Amino acid sequence: MAELLQISQLGNPVLRQTAEPITEIQAQPVQSLIDDLLATLRHSNGVGIAAPQVGVSRRLLIVASRPNPRYPHAPEMEPTPMINPRLVSHSDEIVKDWEGCLSIPGIRGLVPRYQAITIEYYDRYGNLQHQELTDFVARIFQHEFDHLEGYVFLDRLESTRNIITDQEYLKLIAETC
Ligand code: ZN
Repeated sequence: MAELLQISQLGNPVLRQTAEPITEIQAQPVQSLIDDLLATLRHSNGVGIAAPQVGVSRRLLIVASRPNPRYPHAPEMEPTPMINPRLVSHSDEIVKDWEGCLSIPGIRGLVPRYQAITIEYYDRYGNLQHQELTDFVARIFQHEFDHLEGYVFLDRLESTRNIITDQEYLKLIAETC
């Protein structure tokens, strides 16, 4: 049975560490962690989560775009656990959009990210996968990948003026849809 995990919040040193690679993907603790992260993500209306956000400094993240109350315009996809992911290449084009973070509740930031990326990762069965991601899904990956490197979205902002509260964000997207 999957367990809901507690989210580490900004200020917790685990969010500032460089996460270690996972060596035994099929090992039971890794598989359980994946199930727990999937359950925790579903429960918290997130579209992505990284292992350091639950206090585990390992290179594992989940990309799980879907429309939900926090991101009503997100595209739908199967939640995808990615182990030891790598950013292989990226577009020159950079796009800005609003991001939030389960570890930084209450605020949103306008964050520049590559519009398209090519990535590699191991799936939960240990198979190497190669994918191209674009737009919102590429954004989720870059946000979660940053967590493995000890960065949060605040580090990527061009200005602190690009921070707004959740309440103002919800007004903003209500106006633009
Ligand atoms: Zn985050």
